[in-house]
Amino acid sequence: MIADAAAEAFRKEYGAEPAGLWAAPGRVNLIGEHTDYNEGFVLPFALPQRTVAAVGPAPAGEWTVCSTFEDGAVSFGRTEPGGVTGWAAYVAGVVWALHDAGHEVPGARIAIASEVPLGSGLSSSAALESSVLTALVDLGGLDLPVERRPAVAQRAENVYVGAPTGILDQSASIRCQEGRALFLDCRSYEVEQVPFDLAAEGLAILVINSNAPHQHVDGEYGARRKSCEEGARLLGVPALRDISGDGLDDALARIDDEVVRRRVRHIVTEDDRVLETVELLRAGRTRDIGPLLTASHVSMRDDFEITVEQVDLAVDTALAEGAYGARMTGGGFGGCVLALIDADRAEAVTAAVEQAYAQAGFTAPTAWTVTAGPGATRL
Ligand code: ADP
Ligand code: MG
Repeated sequence: MIADAAAEAFRKEYGAEPAGLWAAPGRVNLIGEHTDYNEGFVLPFALPQRTVAAVGPAPAGEWTVCSTFEDGAVSFGRTEPGGVTGWAAYVAGVVWALHDAGHEVPGARIAIASEVPLGSGLSSSAALESSVLTALVDLGGLDLPVERRPAVAQRAENVYVGAPTGILDQSASIRCQEGRALFLDCRSYEVEQVPFDLAAEGLAILVINSNAPHQHVDGEYGARRKSCEEGARLLGVPALRDISGDGLDDALARIDDEVVRRRVRHIVTEDDRVLETVELLRAGRTRDIGPLLTASHVSMRDDFEITVEQVDLAVDTALAEGAYGARMTGGGFGGCVLALIDADRAEAVTAAVEQAYAQAGFTAPTAWTVTAGPGATRL
């Protein structure tokens, strides 16, 4: 359906048929929050919701992009960061990052349609970048193996758009597989596709969008990164990844700053929780990951301080309604919560969260169940 919308948008804007359709998903991070830029571990899976790029050829050195979410098309030639601003910067950034990596990017006309909610922590930005990147690589026959694509898309977002995000989002959108969670080592970029077939166990992941307004996201994200870098510097390691759970107490004793100490504790314990979660999933014990999810939330709430009231309330309510575990997912300060539940409890948990929000006077949440979908692909 979303593919039809992209093809239709292409026809309407360019008066021609697209050469092809490329899709890339949003993602949910099952566990491992803010560990990516600490060179640690993450465990995302791809959402069934995807962004589709309908793409056709254009003269060399010319690109045009439109989106069903935006009025008018944006055209650009070869640019440097800052050359295109606004939403189209994500697309111009991909073109720039591919050139910067030494590729000859084919000119293209692009139409975007998406069913990934924007700005909700489900990574619509990476879905946009990854759909366009995959299309341009295919159309141009570029020699860019899948494992090297996320870093190119990440450079588009970091350097061209100017958002200092880690490698998690683009890796998930490009490398995830259906029915699997992606265990990614953010230092080596090595991956393991971990079995994550919820339906087979009668389970579901309920995603609850808190619909809380995102506030100070970029500033707070930057501040967390700085604290982590400060912690690594004080401890004399390249990244917090290098502090093991066993070494945590010693490490904390060497840090005077109470805030840095808490930030370090979150990252080190979160890396351990990812490893434990992977162990349980490998053993087919999906239900048992619940307490790790909840512990991750508590750590984000108390030590990393990136949750908001709405998010905490959704977690507490889901747990009170019998969820095996629940946590905020994504960078924080709003966004979504995921809850691991028995599949037949989705309506009851959703109703309870809606009621709790109404009582608290919060904007109503949006909730839906998800399964692990495929990564970026030509349709
Ligand atoms: P998230 O990645 O969590 O959804 P971001 O702030 O990182 O939030 O990215 C959202 C931004 O990405 C939007 O504000 C918009 O600029 C751009 N974007 C994502 N998807 C689309 C789309 N389908 N059409 C136009 N712009 C999009
Ligand atoms: Mg994003």
